[in-house]
Amino acid sequence: MSAGGGSAAGRGLAGRCPACGQGRLFDGFIRLAPRCSVCGTELAPPGGAEDPFALIVLAVGILVVGAALVVEIRYAWPIWLHLVVWLPLALGLCLALLRPTRGLLVGIQYRVRGAGARDRR
Ligand SMILES: [Zn+2]
Repeated sequence: MSAGGGSAAGRGLAGRCPACGQGRLFDGFIRLAPRCSVCGTELAPPGGAEDPFALIVLAVGILVVGAALVVEIRYAWPIWLHLVVWLPLALGLCLALLRPTRGLLVGIQYRVRGAGARDRR
């Protein structure tokens, strides 16, 4: 993943300001910074950012349940082993995906908003 360069979506994915690629996108673990500290671009849209959490939980759920089914059919794990392996994995995946996914959405929104603003001029 290239830092700095690339598309607005790519910069968002990397947790950087979609406009300049320098400022940090996040103020806390998943809280968006209101503005870029480097270029001043508004990062958190006034209407509130898209919350990708439900989407991530759904995607991780499908992935983990699918993997658990394959393992169950092939290796017939006991239930406790499934719980010990899949629950932390699902939780970890959700947390790991939350920041990049949110950053990606901000990057895409930035591009869409930027294009809209240009069209109106
Ligand atoms: Zn910036």
